[in-house]
Amino acid sequence: MRAGPSQEEIRRHNLGALLRHVHLSGPTSRAELTNRMGLNRSTIMALTADLTAAGLVREELPRETGRAGRPSLVVRPESARVYVFAFDVGVDRMVAARVGLGGTILDRRETVRRRGVFSLEEIVGPLAAFARQMHRRTRPDTVCVGVAAAFAGGVGRDDGGIRFGPNMATLEDVPFAEEMTRRLAFGLPVTVGNDANLAALAEQTRGVGVGCRDLVYLHGDVGIGGGVIANGQLLGGHLGFGGEVGHMIVNPDKGRLCGCGSLGCLEAEVGERALLEAAGRFGPQVGRDAVRAVVDAADRGDVVAQAALSRVGDWLGLGVANLVNIFNPEMVVFGGMLREIYLGSAAQVRSRLALDALPPSREHLRLRTSALGDDATLVGAAELAFSQVLADPLEVLTRAGS
Ligand SMILES: [Zn+2]
Repeated sequence: MRAGPSQEEIRRHNLGALLRHVHLSGPTSRAELTNRMGLNRSTIMALTADLTAAGLVREELPRETGRAGRPSLVVRPESARVYVFAFDVGVDRMVAARVGLGGTILDRRETVRRRGVFSLEEIVGPLAAFARQMHRRTRPDTVCVGVAAAFAGGVGRDDGGIRFGPNMATLEDVPFAEEMTRRLAFGLPVTVGNDANLAALAEQTRGVGVGCRDLVYLHGDVGIGGGVIANGQLLGGHLGFGGEVGHMIVNPDKGRLCGCGSLGCLEAEVGERALLEAAGRFGPQVGRDAVRAVVDAADRGDVVAQAALSRVGDWLGLGVANLVNIFNPEMVVFGGMLREIYLGSAAQVRSRLALDALPPSREHLRLRTSALGDDATLVGAAELAFSQVLADPLEVLTRAGS
């Protein structure tokens, strides 16, 4: 029989919980922390003292309380001192950022990525160079507590290797996490997650889905990615490849060929190419600007663009109806390029849902666009990088050598 948690385990758990609280909610008074965490004042004081001594938070007098009596000290994250590196590898662009505790983006770099060919060096090289540039600009008293990347492809749970990425022009196994760790040489392992999975978590912790325990996030890049959060947990599946809703087959008989090799996947019917072809605009200009141009044209009354959006919206609605029937989410969030597509085809999506989603499952369903916008995947990567320090703050600081 296992004994209950020791005093030390409880203390470590509480340190992580308090740090997570100020990381996500920002500066919070001790009194508020006492209320929200259900711990007594002296415990909160002791935990705050430990985190302050470790340089993770600092306490300040509030600016004004408007109340008489002694004000409760405010605990704020040491955003300028404690940070992570976050990377986002999309089909057309790559972003690197230094993100402070509390979620503040302190520094960032961005570059375009070439489509149609896959070269690990063309991804790792520029990202490692960006990280070194940003690292050189940090003050000596700062400490990096994690490194993580979001990748537009299937990422193995155990080793952060890429197992498939049809829109990234690779179907080969790629040791991405391993190579990033080696090239950065920060003494910290690089963790990698699927971009849509990480964006789903980002929207749930910092975006439009705060407070939602059951949420489906759909991410449009060139293809369609997804993240399913059920009862507060991301569904990863046995090996981490769960939530690939873009490869849900919706049109097997007359469907378009998908990059994965199947016919009629959701992303083949809803993705960038499907929209641009339906609008008669598939050509040299692709990417988010080309998608926006279709939505703008439809807004201005272009009937071909309107018909294209309506067609794509119908397939999108069918995909969402299936997801609603299976997962009964409280909210469906449209992110990446799907924000524009959804806004341009909301009526069609809703009418398809009215036809095909089970009435009790769609009754309280909210359809929303991403609040974090193009940064949702990057923010998700930053949160992944922070996850270790939030789980066990003192242990990670010891390892980081501060
Ligand atoms: Zn597919």
